[in-house]
Amino acid sequence: MTDFVYRSSAVRVVFGSGTIDRVAEELELLGCGRALVLATPGQVDHADAVRDRLGGRAAGVFTGARMHTPVETTEEALTLARALEADCTVAVGGGSTIGLGKALTHRTGLPQVAVPTTYAGSEVTPVLGETRDGRKTTLRDPAVAPRTVVYDVDLTMSLPAGLTGTSGLNAMAHAVEALWARDRNPVTSLLALEAVGAFATALPRLADDPLDRDARSAALYGAWLSGTCLGTVGMALHHKLCHVLGGTFDLPHSEVHAVVLPHVVDFNAPAVPAIVESIARVLKAPRAGDGIRELRDRVGAPRSLRELGMPRSGIARAAELVTADGYPNVRPIDRAEAEDLLIAAWSNCGDAG
Ligand code: NAD
Repeated sequence: MTDFVYRSSAVRVVFGSGTIDRVAEELELLGCGRALVLATPGQVDHADAVRDRLGGRAAGVFTGARMHTPVETTEEALTLARALEADCTVAVGGGSTIGLGKALTHRTGLPQVAVPTTYAGSEVTPVLGETRDGRKTTLRDPAVAPRTVVYDVDLTMSLPAGLTGTSGLNAMAHAVEALWARDRNPVTSLLALEAVGAFATALPRLADDPLDRDARSAALYGAWLSGTCLGTVGMALHHKLCHVLGGTFDLPHSEVHAVVLPHVVDFNAPAVPAIVESIARVLKAPRAGDGIRELRDRVGAPRSLRELGMPRSGIARAAELVTADGYPNVRPIDRAEAEDLLIAAWSNCGDAG
């Protein structure tokens, strides 16, 4: 075993079905009594469900959360939080809503209780991405992480089939990159393989029946583990590629992850054969990249960057950006190799089908 450093984060996790009923007691444990409930415009129902259960502990609701946490939205929510004298936030939703809660914590110190409804994993990371004038910046500070996470399987039942598959693959990407992270350690690697296994079992079942409660539970469990990996160790080439592609061409977040992941696994495989074989074993596939492709097709996720609307002419620019600053990756990548990888991901070549 090689040397390692392991740092765990202090988060309280409540997991189950019907746990939305326990948000009020979690607020009490934090000593909070005036919560601002956060959601996107599409999840007003979820926000109302939380507010109704909080009774007098709810100070108000803000349902304007948006993708990529634009600072204007944060300022709007901040004005409301101040007017209501809120003493905490409860974010019910995916990474966009939890990101807003983090942005508010960053500005005010208000603690956040997160009630995640996708598999993105932001609820257990110290990372906040914000957009100002169309430019996304990222900060890492343990103080922005939610203090408590309430996972309620019931709230994930309404996750649309398409997003279920891509969000699951997005989470799986966190776990896969944790396995070859520069600061990988035995604990995070255990969590990562367990997460890959949970998604490998859950996602095909959810593709057949999005209301399969046991599969929903397994996927949410996988999301917690994957998010924990993302929050504990550094990410590498895959996340760098997705960050560049999403930011430069305004491509949808989880779909980009679903398209890019098998290509990065193929690229890194020669540098870390034992790790990539361990992923293949959990996926029950001869090769890890092919196992991920099979899963991607099984859930009906997009297969190419072309389908997502990326222009072919953007490949050279993306390759330049990906290789511009040294991102730690187990296999160094130069510009020509990045371009080859992106061409394969753009055109869907490298795929058997
Ligand atoms: P999202 O939060 O943007 O949600 C996508 C859409 O699905 C929204 O309209 C939302 O209202 C809807 N939705 C979510 N859950 C639902 C449910 N159960 N039922 C019905 N509709 C539902 O998507 P996401 O993929 O969770 O988050 C993406 C954002 O989070 C990106 O901005 C990404 O950068 C960020 N993110 C940040 C981190 C981090 O650690 N900071 C980690 C992962 C993602």
